[in-house]
Amino acid sequence: NRRIILASRPVGMPTTDNLPIDTVTLPAPGAGEMVVKVLYLSLDPYMRGRMDASKSYAANVALGDPMVGGAAGRVIASNNPKFKDGDYVFGMFGWQEYALSNGAGVRKLDPAQAPITTSLGVLGMPGMTAYVGLLDKGRPKAGETVVVSAASGAVGGLVGQIAKIKGCRAVGIAGGPQKCAYVVDELGFDACVDYKADDFREKLKEAVPAGIDVYFENVGGAVSEAVMTRMNDFSRVALCGLIAHYNDTGAAEGVDRLPRFMFSMLAKRMSLNGFIVSDHPERAGDFFKDMTAWVRDGQVRYREDIVSGGLDKTVEAFQGLLTGRNFGKLIMQIAED
Ligand code: NDP
Repeated sequence: NRRIILASRPVGMPTTDNLPIDTVTLPAPGAGEMVVKVLYLSLDPYMRGRMDASKSYAANVALGDPMVGGAAGRVIASNNPKFKDGDYVFGMFGWQEYALSNGAGVRKLDPAQAPITTSLGVLGMPGMTAYVGLLDKGRPKAGETVVVSAASGAVGGLVGQIAKIKGCRAVGIAGGPQKCAYVVDELGFDACVDYKADDFREKLKEAVPAGIDVYFENVGGAVSEAVMTRMNDFSRVALCGLIAHYNDTGAAEGVDRLPRFMFSMLAKRMSLNGFIVSDHPERAGDFFKDMTAWVRDGQVRYREDIVSGGLDKTVEAFQGLLTGRNFGKLIMQIAED
């Protein structure tokens, strides 16, 4: 069995030196166990945090252990009464070609209902993040303006579409004209602003004539700074991610802008709600019911960026996620079915 292990903790961008491939013999499944052939591995920004020594909201990966990750695969040998050979399943199978599982946390997938890759994106963790973060943390009301960064991505693309369903004005922020065009033309946002363009701040101002009531934060850095100046009184920030900072190696140099930011929060009576999707299992039923219906009715569209090349290309694809090379939900194809 080939797998990618965490051999050393990255400083800045992770490399194949930090994440080499090793080969081990997979033991035969014992009582209650099964072997899953991994077909599609989800690559997600949170994995960068798991590579660090410091413990965050979830435990880090120990040196020498395989990298963690959600994946969709097919059962090829089962001694577990709940799963039979040939079943398609989702589970935390990790960055490897085969996984030995006792069935805990494993969910059966029905490819006749939806492609199995959707369990990693629109109907999986990123979809649930958009749903819980926007509705429960952003609390948008019809007529309000919702802004979301990383707007063409797995989470961001869904946030704006849910905002539209709830009667809001949806404005995206994304890197480059191609991603911005997709966000407006395909996903139906009211506007999308390119943060890499020189006139970003002016274009953002034009896109939010009534100011911003909800900001769904995925990025941090210069993007949030620009957004913060346009927030309305009593506005809400759903603090989902800060991907621009995941490879930071120390505190930023320069002016300390924190006091000004805090003062603006006070003066505008803003609320900032950090959240982690896995804290909200009670919302999984609502999410799945609503999102399935929205996708079926064409109210929600999604884009998957499926990269081939298996484990040999996985680290490279992960690096692309941290620099914006992906376009849509990044999924690594580990094997042919
Ligand atoms: P995406 O599919 O949005 O991919 C990441 C995108 O982030 C890139 O395509 C790129 O878009 C943007 N990006 C990357 N590097 C930078 C940078 N240095 N500066 C600005 N933008 C950058 O990923 P996800 O939808 O899976 O995740 C989006 C966010 O949601 C992440 O911050 C992630 O950590 C967070 N998240 C949080 C969860 C929670 O429970 N709180 C759960 C799941 C995700 P572009 O080209 O437009 O810059």
